[in-house]
Amino acid sequence: MGHTGARAGRRPRVPPALVTDLPVLAALVLCWLTISVAWAHLATGMALVGLIGVHLRPRWPQVRRRLGYWSFLAAAAGMTVTGLLRWAGVAAAHLARRGELPAARPGRDAPLVDPASPAPAARPAPAPTRRDEEGNSGMSTERFDTVVIGGGQAGMPVGYHLARQGRDFVIVDVGGAVGQAWRERWDSLRLFSPAHFTKLPGMTFPAASRHLPSTDEMADYLRAYAARFDLPLRLGWRVDQLSRDHDGYLIASAGRSLRASRVVVATGPALRPRVPQAADRLDPSVVSLHSVDYRNPDQLRDGPVLVVGAGNSGAEIALDVAPTHHVVLAGRDVGRLPISLGGPVYRVMNALLTVDTALGRRFMASTAGKGGTPLVRVRPEHLARAGVERAPRLADVVDGRPQLDDGRVLDVATVIWCTGYLPDYSWIALPGFPRTGLPAHHRGVVIDQPGLYLIGLPFLSRMASSLAGGVGADARHIADHLPAAAGTAP
Ligand SMILES: Cc1cc2nc3c(=O)[nH]c(=O)nc-3n(C[C@H](O)[C@H](O)[C@H](O)COP(=O)(O)OP(=O)(O)OC[C@H]3O[C@@H](n4cnc5c(N)ncnc54)[C@H](O)[C@@H]3O)c2cc1C
Repeated sequence: MGHTGARAGRRPRVPPALVTDLPVLAALVLCWLTISVAWAHLATGMALVGLIGVHLRPRWPQVRRRLGYWSFLAAAAGMTVTGLLRWAGVAAAHLARRGELPAARPGRDAPLVDPASPAPAARPAPAPTRRDEEGNSGMSTERFDTVVIGGGQAGMPVGYHLARQGRDFVIVDVGGAVGQAWRERWDSLRLFSPAHFTKLPGMTFPAASRHLPSTDEMADYLRAYAARFDLPLRLGWRVDQLSRDHDGYLIASAGRSLRASRVVVATGPALRPRVPQAADRLDPSVVSLHSVDYRNPDQLRDGPVLVVGAGNSGAEIALDVAPTHHVVLAGRDVGRLPISLGGPVYRVMNALLTVDTALGRRFMASTAGKGGTPLVRVRPEHLARAGVERAPRLADVVDGRPQLDDGRVLDVATVIWCTGYLPDYSWIALPGFPRTGLPAHHRGVVIDQPGLYLIGLPFLSRMASSLAGGVGADARHIADHLPAAAGTAP
């Protein structure tokens, strides 16, 4: 009896389920191929080192002995590493079969998700009784714990962290679609940061790690990000005014408004194009446009083009225009970034150069107000090869024509101003809040305005604060600060 009972209690052996999920299967095949290729490379490398050590230096017995020894050591290390990778692959396959790794969610266009960053818990259902108040003006006003103004690469990760905390929030953006700001940049622009450093928290950029994304790919990524984490968005909302009264913050947008205890301003550093006043004195026959309005050379009149400002935008636009027009690129030499953006050295520097380290503060002070960050991609020889004429800074506009520092007056058909942007907070009507500069803050936590936060600005907390690969840390800091702000908020 006992024997039969034990047998009856035993669960029938089920053959392991086949991996039928196509993305998981593809990932496994890819993983296997990568390991095999790595193995082949390693074996070839070891063979070469061994060959050099044993055969090519017969007259240097010591070198030979050493190289032979190192090749042996490399072989052992290589075998260990690839062995470990194999086991990691097997373990991953096992976990995927058991469904412990997050699989791509059907219907979402964000296939690559960090296992370490699970999708946030579903947000609590909004409490309708707290919303839809009637203000004195008769205007309907919804209330949220937090409103994020701006749904770009800085606003999105704030939303990600708020959603993980189960907070009641909404992201408002003037754009009619997520990522619109990126789609409005010039056609040939590719990001300077490679895919591996264009990653917001929780979701890798779906491209090879060194790929430089196009603006459309970046916009698609942001759209997929919002969908993946089900971020609550109000699109087509231009916030005209942010003010505060006894009842908290009031966010007004063309006859609509929202109330919030906390507000995160993520409207980006590119709010108002900076164009020198001299531009007004250009002859009306000269086409004058800022880089924000530049799309491609078809927009330009026939004839020479002056690009003012030799930073990254200026250099890239000069190269874009050079095949069809004679281009003069005017501006000081901003130098070249000597390290790769998002590479290991950059990451170490980003960890060291923060507003909380003396080194970081010194670096910040030394770069402040200089304008024009070092060139990331373009080198002087690229410009020379494309026929771009380098020239000193623009001095003035004389008789409707641009004059350079060396006295030359240029007869050009078009001027493209690649002269950067100015902050514009004229829509923030809070006592003591500066209209153009930044208010006093520490890592985006505004000091004199309880419950107000800034994000996405250059060197907000560290070197990479304004980049997709660096803004996540600031978003986390702000989201973690929010609960502490409860009670202090108005
Ligand atoms: C030419 C160029 C190249 C770049 N290359 C890279 C790169 O390689 N890698 C990288 O990581 N970054 C890159 N950037 C991004 C840049 O460095 C900025 O730091 C980045 O755009 C900041 O992100 P953000 O979300 O703060 O701002 P934005 O991307 O500008 O987003 C701000 C959002 O706020 C919205 N908004 C603005 N005002 C209002 C308002 N009043 N009401 C409602 N919504 C509003 C806008 O519609 C927009 O969606 C590049 C930018 C430019 C211009």
